[in-house]
Amino acid sequence: MKKKMQSLDVIEKEVASFFKRLKPYPRFYTESDEELVKLSLNLLNILKLEFGLANYFDTFITPDGLPFVFVTSLKWYMPHREYYLRLTSSGTSGQKTENYWNRESLYRIDFVVRKTAEELGMVSSTPTVYFIFGYDPKEVGDLGTAWSDENLKQLAPELESFYLIRNDKLCWDEFISEFYRVVADGVPVRLIGFPALLWEFLVRIESVSLNPESLILTGGGWKKRESEAVTEFEFVEKCKEKLGVERVRIRDVYGFTEHGLPYFTCEYGNHHLHGYSKIFVRDLQTLKVLDYGQPGLMHVVSPYNTTTPTQSVLNNDLVAVYPNCPCGRGDYFKIFGRAGKVKLKMCALKVDELLEKN
Ligand SMILES: [Zn+2]
Repeated sequence: MKKKMQSLDVIEKEVASFFKRLKPYPRFYTESDEELVKLSLNLLNILKLEFGLANYFDTFITPDGLPFVFVTSLKWYMPHREYYLRLTSSGTSGQKTENYWNRESLYRIDFVVRKTAEELGMVSSTPTVYFIFGYDPKEVGDLGTAWSDENLKQLAPELESFYLIRNDKLCWDEFISEFYRVVADGVPVRLIGFPALLWEFLVRIESVSLNPESLILTGGGWKKRESEAVTEFEFVEKCKEKLGVERVRIRDVYGFTEHGLPYFTCEYGNHHLHGYSKIFVRDLQTLKVLDYGQPGLMHVVSPYNTTTPTQSVLNNDLVAVYPNCPCGRGDYFKIFGRAGKVKLKMCALKVDELLEKN
């Protein structure tokens, strides 16, 4: 047992020093990609084999020889290492997933949030009031989305925070009257959370003019309200109309609990790949790597979490990667929804069609 712990300690140090050397953008193929994949798979094997996790997982191999774990098999995982934080996914399918992090791995999430947001122009030193279109973490504890929203407060000093969901209820009246009060003071605000709730907010409020340093940051997808999903174009137009906020201050963050690293959009609304992970897009049938622009399953590789065997995860979200974002930060991806959920896919495709036209 002592020998096993030693090898994990060694790799923890290796991951830490490697992570510090990485640069977030631009995201082209670099030599560090190869090192990142190698380190990730090495760690995956250590965690799986040395702790006997093979019983919990099936590890599959891609045609190009990379072992990976299906995102759904992580539902049955129990931690074998000491952990500091456990989060559950809010899940659209009913079955909850948990993921676990030690302090070092959590520090690396914070590092990625700060570094990537900084490079995308989302970090400010001006004190800000937060309006969270989601849960108060004091009430829901280990819910992944609540933790992520809270974690985004490191991007600007917090004056005050308000949460829309209290005691499992949407408290619109209180939330909106606090919003009017804060806006009248002229301080910057950050509106963070589920897009469906932000949309409902935009419909409910009177037009105001936010401090130009304000930021709107959606995340977590439309969940059960996917049939109400509006296009990105409609959303941006509504933000301009009701809040006086320009496109460049409207951002989104993509992520999933079983992976944990965030992917923010730039000023052009494109979700960027960054240097702290490697994303492969794979064919649904053959699992071969697809070219730019071809939608497939998202396979994400990163060595940052040294607590759970999530270093190489095949997610069931359909994505496509595109080169050369006009912002100059390299590759970006679009999300077409979840494989097998035609409705959501159609909706996302509608967003793309509209974006092409505008
Ligand atoms: Zn961009």
